[in-house]
Amino acid sequence: MNLSKRATQIEPSRTARFIPAMAELRRQGREVINFAVGEPDFPTPRRIIEATQKAMAEGHTRYGPTAGLPELRRCIARRFAGGSAENIVITNGSKQALYLIFQAICDPGDQVIIPSPCWVSFPEQVRLAGAEPVMVASLGHRLDAGAVAAAVTPRTRAVLVNSPNNPTGAVYTEDELAAIVALCMEKDLFLLSDEAYDAFVYDGGRHVSPFDWTGARDRVIVTRSFSKPFAMTGFRVGYAAAPVEVARAMEKILSHASGNVCTFVQHGALAALEIEETLMPNLLARMSRRRDIAYGLASNLFDCLRPEGAFYLFADISGRLKTGETAEAFCMGVLDKTGVAMVPGEAFGAPGFVRISYAVAEDRIGDGFERIRKFLQD
Ligand code: GLU
Repeated sequence: MNLSKRATQIEPSRTARFIPAMAELRRQGREVINFAVGEPDFPTPRRIIEATQKAMAEGHTRYGPTAGLPELRRCIARRFAGGSAENIVITNGSKQALYLIFQAICDPGDQVIIPSPCWVSFPEQVRLAGAEPVMVASLGHRLDAGAVAAAVTPRTRAVLVNSPNNPTGAVYTEDELAAIVALCMEKDLFLLSDEAYDAFVYDGGRHVSPFDWTGARDRVIVTRSFSKPFAMTGFRVGYAAAPVEVARAMEKILSHASGNVCTFVQHGALAALEIEETLMPNLLARMSRRRDIAYGLASNLFDCLRPEGAFYLFADISGRLKTGETAEAFCMGVLDKTGVAMVPGEAFGAPGFVRISYAVAEDRIGDGFERIRKFLQD
């Protein structure tokens, strides 16, 4: 069958594939530990569920405005000083926001610079817009602005940053981001900032967004998600904050692609914002404890940096691989023998590494690493 080049040249998501795979293993009666999918294990807060159910019962079950409910867009706009509802587009997860952004700003032949390792969907989404992802090595926790600058060509359209970072757990500093902001202003580039993990910055650190630079706001596009901070992964709701022209282009594309995000789900998202302040300190404390436990156990087995944010550990397993063995094969072996799922580094452009999500209960973290330890011993 002749499918489009677009469809045949991209790979399916190598993180999302674990979602059905984990369910299938459980269905088969396997006792699996999911260090693979980045999904908080705690239940969606009751207040959010109730607000969603209430909205549904009250008849908020019809089409809504494509870019989202005005009250939700207004509420989100308050997080972006100087912005208004016009800058906000509500999307099916921040994944769709990113997809729409590339569709809105890239033409075939354009390039988007992405520090690597990076989340699996960035390069594929750039390709889906006909553009070319240009990967710039950025292993470790620091963002090398010099390397990003060296990758700029006349075809560069945008630079993409992701802090807190998936998969490395890095949180970029103000100085690191300032250099990228300056570069984008000098070279007239869009600066995309994926901030899906903005709520997860540990050790009293502060999340810095390129949006904080007021002079750069006409080129900064931020994406954020309800999935991770509110355990709303299945609701599929995220958003972009973008210059008005970009937001309108995204809305136009969305109006043909899917239309508005599920109406009653957006009411759940409104409720999430209402309880955010009471929810977050507890969430951060819990995740920070998990980070400490996971890092303590992982660093006994592998070479890895202490995550500064998000909920991933990115471990160098090259010293543990047999000759010729890939991280992919290693992960398959661990899953098969122990039931612990991890995502191989190849998925993020970093062979010889594995990504371990510690958004799971503390005792499961301990159990998972114990199983990996035994696997390595054997
Ligand atoms: N973003 C999460 C992850 O990286 C969920 C799966 C996906 O959408 O990629 O594991």
